[in-house]
Amino acid sequence: MPIRTELPVSIQSRNFRDLPQTTGHITKIEFDKGDRTKNAMRFIGMGMAATFCAVFVPIAHWFLVPLLFVASWVFGLDKLKEMARSEGGKGPCPKCHKEFPIEPSTYKERITDTCSYCHEDVEILFPQPAKTEG
Ligand SMILES: [Zn+2]
Repeated sequence: MPIRTELPVSIQSRNFRDLPQTTGHITKIEFDKGDRTKNAMRFIGMGMAATFCAVFVPIAHWFLVPLLFVASWVFGLDKLKEMARSEGGKGPCPKCHKEFPIEPSTYKERITDTCSYCHEDVEILFPQPAKTEG
């Protein structure tokens, strides 16, 4: 079962570094091995269905079929390595201080987003687990 946890994130302006950071929150989903396999199988399954449908598209099927086939395996197998995702969240903008939605994304150290009110480019800093030595 995927584990959902609500985490605090720091929001920083990309254009005005001297503005104080604000704190928002996101929902992190962690996948165990079973979830990752399920995600990958679902993605590959949909890719294969799309490949099958593309067989009936005149002329374009010459490149659509191999493209969809390869893409569904390449990106599907990539899902096996996806340990966690951010389901998005919200937080106050460092510039206009209005609460804006944070887009869903892969879970990494930092992502960039845009305030939906003042269109300020912001950086969302996710908390990282403490790295173990060795
Ligand atoms: Zn803003």
